[in-house]
Amino acid sequence: DEDRALLEEAAEGKGPGFEDGPRPVVAVIGRPNVGKSTLVNRILGRREAVVEDVPGVTRDRVAYDAEWSGREFTLVDTGGWEVDATGIHLRVAEQAEIAVELADVVMFVVDATVGATDDDEAVVKLLRKSGKPVVLVANKVDDERTEADAASLWNLGLGQPWPVSALHGRGSGDALDALLEVLPDVSSVGGAYQRGGPRRVALIGRPNVGKSSLLNKLAGSERVVVDNVAGTTRDPVDEYIELGGKTWRFVDTAGIRRRVHQTRGADFYASLRTQTALEKAEVAVVLIDAGESIAEQDIRVVQQVIDSGRALVIAYNKWDTLDEERRYYLEREIERELVQVPWAPRVNISAKTGRAVDKLVPALEKSLDSWDQRIPTGRLNAFLGEIVAAHPHPVRGGKQPRILFATQASTRPPRFVVFASGFIEAGYRRFLERKLREEFGFEGTPIEVSVRVRE
Ligand code: GDP
Ligand code: GDP
Repeated sequence: DEDRALLEEAAEGKGPGFEDGPRPVVAVIGRPNVGKSTLVNRILGRREAVVEDVPGVTRDRVAYDAEWSGREFTLVDTGGWEVDATGIHLRVAEQAEIAVELADVVMFVVDATVGATDDDEAVVKLLRKSGKPVVLVANKVDDERTEADAASLWNLGLGQPWPVSALHGRGSGDALDALLEVLPDVSSVGGAYQRGGPRRVALIGRPNVGKSSLLNKLAGSERVVVDNVAGTTRDPVDEYIELGGKTWRFVDTAGIRRRVHQTRGADFYASLRTQTALEKAEVAVVLIDAGESIAEQDIRVVQQVIDSGRALVIAYNKWDTLDEERRYYLEREIERELVQVPWAPRVNISAKTGRAVDKLVPALEKSLDSWDQRIPTGRLNAFLGEIVAAHPHPVRGGKQPRILFATQASTRPPRFVVFASGFIEAGYRRFLERKLREEFGFEGTPIEVSVRVRE
């Protein structure tokens, strides 16, 4: 039947919404200081690099539109994966695990002048397990004398090491040609940088809140297509479910359906899974067990969504277990514990009975609309002018910083940059954020207001 065909196409990254086809994603991974950012800048053909000599400097992980020999792809610099959003210090291999998960092809950078370290070996293991195509870059081969160092990396068992000097450009063309040979036409990973296609939802929350029950409830009543990534040995990870007349892509569902037992704490892996799922998703449904007191861990998951800049819906699950008293205390707890997200749409559901599960889709749509929302600069400044006139920034040290103008720098999530004549206090910035929400809504999305001082 026709719907079924559409769902199957979607599972392969084709059909309506996929007209351009999601571009393949290339992640550049490797230990700190091997030259990843330098290589990224080389590929992008520019020099204004955020390159640091200090190992482990925290930088933003960034995705760029890149092109080589007429082929377009998304290039992800993982330079900033030293500390994740939850403050957990991820080891190189763990950072790489997320990066690999989110990529179609991996450029693995090793410093040829240092050789392969234990950290590199750990990454190699993981790359083999992933089954993803790898281009091994032996970097810092600035001249012929160091080529022998590069050749020793054959030992890693990842095929040919490509000797490159990211700094001077030597050999980078050959490495990129090798990349194109293994680059698929269309991405199958569904990273955050991907646009188009069914909207991507992550179901997250601490263990036992009901994630797999909800997934089964949603999937059970509708048809499901399991995303089987062709040519890899990976587990099925995403499920396409039709809800409210639309197809939705639930990401990383293998992590929900299967309990992974690992030597490191279950909490650690739960948190890693949450982070991976968020990376892939556009909107997160945080499930909270309404029958129990809101826990530290629930608050942390909500904070992870905010930090990752994804849209948010909060689902209070197990509503069928609530009595009058618990309901009363739940409301008090929400007021006390979740003060930072009064803007998140809320649904009171039961994954077991199916209560109010149909409210989920309108909530998701509302949050995504806000996430995508762009305020025209004219309207933004007219509004800012009014509130600044009514509530000017307090005078400090005889001076009064003025707000000059503002612009919305991005959507997904909405980010605003305010230009001012002097330092703007954090309190005033929060005031502006509150006013923006009062005026424009932004229900279900984090927003960010940053200030630039104009001399
Ligand atoms: P990342 O932490 O892996 O992103 O590494 P960076 O790109 O920040 O580079 C770390 C340091 O290595 C910087 O000082 C770079 O200038 C230097 N570097 C990067 N590529 C090369 C190269 O091909 N040759 C040499 N000699 N130095 C390089
Ligand atoms: P997960 O670890 O978040 O995937 O949680 P599960 O879906 O495995 O659910 C944990 C337990 O809670 C199971 O025993 C479920 O049957 C139960 N459960 C899940 N949702 C509900 C609900 O809405 N009401 C009730 N009463 N139990 C639920």
